[in-house]
Amino acid sequence: MIPFDNSYARLPQGFFARVAPTPVAQPCLLALNTGLVQRLGLDTEWLSNSEGVAMLAGNAVPEGAEPIAQAYAGHQFGGFVPQLGDGRAVLLGEVVAPDGARFDIQLKGSGPTPFSRRGDGRAWMGPVLREYIVSEFMHAMGVPTTRALAAVATGETVWRESGLPGAVLTRVASSHIRVGTFQYFAVRGQEDALAALTDHVIARHYPTANGPLSLLDHVVARQAETIAHWMALGFIHGVMNTDNMAVSGETIDYGPCAFMDAYHPDTVFSSIDRGGRYAWAQQPQIAVWNLAQLATCLIPLMGERDAAIEAATKSVHSFAPLYQAAWKRRFGEKLGLTEASDAQPLAERLLTIMAGQRADFTRVFAGLSDGSARDEFADPEAFDDWRSEWQSQRPDPDLMRHANPRRIPRNHRIEEAIAAAVADDLTPFRRLFDAVIHPRDDRGDWDDLGQAPQADQVVHQTFC
Ligand code: AMP
Ligand code: MG
Ligand code: MG
Repeated sequence: MIPFDNSYARLPQGFFARVAPTPVAQPCLLALNTGLVQRLGLDTEWLSNSEGVAMLAGNAVPEGAEPIAQAYAGHQFGGFVPQLGDGRAVLLGEVVAPDGARFDIQLKGSGPTPFSRRGDGRAWMGPVLREYIVSEFMHAMGVPTTRALAAVATGETVWRESGLPGAVLTRVASSHIRVGTFQYFAVRGQEDALAALTDHVIARHYPTANGPLSLLDHVVARQAETIAHWMALGFIHGVMNTDNMAVSGETIDYGPCAFMDAYHPDTVFSSIDRGGRYAWAQQPQIAVWNLAQLATCLIPLMGERDAAIEAATKSVHSFAPLYQAAWKRRFGEKLGLTEASDAQPLAERLLTIMAGQRADFTRVFAGLSDGSARDEFADPEAFDDWRSEWQSQRPDPDLMRHANPRRIPRNHRIEEAIAAAVADDLTPFRRLFDAVIHPRDDRGDWDDLGQAPQADQVVHQTFC
């Protein structure tokens, strides 16, 4: 049993379509995230029995759930699409955890909806397992993110370039409301709906905000923190379209996302990002661009137009100093330096040296606390000079060890885990998951997962 309380489904018609998940042939539980089950106050035993798995597969709609597909629009690679919406996901409902926090329980890959356009409404096992691992690593590092409650194999084939095993991910988020949700109503000129959405988001995410401008300020501040944290982990989202940016500030819609191995600011993995719009170093600028779209949606609710435009512009521009401060704090911590010291020039110089030698992002920073960072440089001289200056600042090893993961979900390891899972062996997936949700632990038996890929293991492109 799950005590659902569905606040989004109580919003006016037009916010969503009521649609049940489509049952699958043969549900089989691939993974259940017991840590998150407990966080939500749910019952592991029920979720893993046949009733629970039927719900997680979309084969049964439990009492209290009100499945809906949410409507949204979005800019995809800069081009506006007035109607996107959940084309392969349904929100089963919301759950209030024992501490009072509200969470969406969403099935992703659960079959067609009125928003599917030409899509099949399904997901294959690869992206489901990737999102499961990556989102839980992000959570373990303290990055605001949607989370993964379960993954279920469907026993059905999904057709992409070839036939692949299907799966459903149960995704948990403080909400799935996106910049694109606001755009959906703004482009239709539906001010009443925009006002209702604004009230809903304020009540749900930013109870101290008073009105649309204040809401914008809050979202800008939250996103500045989130994006700075991505940068500090070498994370590349891959598809920062406005429909993939949550107003809660949580990282959402893990598709062809990836963590850099060798460091270079222009790194792109996504096969669909030909122009490098969403390269690692572009992410803060793109966040500002997306937030400007949110601002545009909110301006009609802000009173006199010229004053509203001026205030909204100022709010969007507040991203830069907030982001800079967050970046400086995050990279300072990576160097073991507190906010009192001027870590920024040191961090920037280190990154320049790393980029020149394509040093491994994660291993250099993790290696600062045990002295092994030097080994990551083909030509360590430049690093040696940098290191003497850095050490004169007396870095705090505990701060560094907390900020720098020893292990990230490396692309080649994820691919390896997916390939094994497709061949019915979940052992590598489970091992990788355990290792990355304990990213700072020093465990010898996980050493191989902390290694950079060999030349022939490097993943150059990711697909959604
Ligand atoms: P994404 O690129 O995953 O953020 O998705 C962009 C849009 O395409 C959203 O409206 C998705 O719901 C929709 N979509 C993606 N994959 C599928 C699919 N297999 N079937 C139906 N809709 C999809
Ligand atoms: Mg955790
Ligand atoms: Mg999306």
